[in-house]
Amino acid sequence: MQLEKSGFTSQQIYSPLGTYRYLQCRFPCTHNACYQSYDLINEIFIKIDSGIQLTEANIPKCSRCGDFLVPNHFRTKTVSVSEPETYLNRDQFQKKISAIKNKKIVFLEIGCGFRLPNIIRYPFENYVEAFENAQLIRINSVYPNITNQNIADKAYIFGEDINQILKDLL
Ligand SMILES: [Zn+2]
Repeated sequence: MQLEKSGFTSQQIYSPLGTYRYLQCRFPCTHNACYQSYDLINEIFIKIDSGIQLTEANIPKCSRCGDFLVPNHFRTKTVSVSEPETYLNRDQFQKKISAIKNKKIVFLEIGCGFRLPNIIRYPFENYVEAFENAQLIRINSVYPNITNQNIADKAYIFGEDINQILKDLL
């Protein structure tokens, strides 16, 4: 949602860990069974504010399989995160990246640690190594160092507080 508010279209967004903008079935009945979360969550808040005691019937459900909906985000520990149709999926993202691989590209990585390094951290380092004109900007006060030493001259590392770095850049 924050990226859209900043002016990016949904077809410019790839969200490999999901997004709170959508809900999905606990166990996805289709790979892209997603529902806009705002109105569904807002209905629940309105009931809470009205003093209505929530029951299981108030939990949003998938119109296809009838299962309860949960946030479309890795943190909900669902079996797999669905890919909303409005966002880029993995294949579309990789095609877009391949199409611009010879251009000047900056991979901006903010606060990516080693919990899931194969989602952003390692791929970004690999892209920067593979693409001649690519550079990496990493802002990370806990794990600032690059893993791939082949990109040492193409990486700009900021190990200070993320909040301060972003304020200084603006
Ligand atoms: Zn479903």
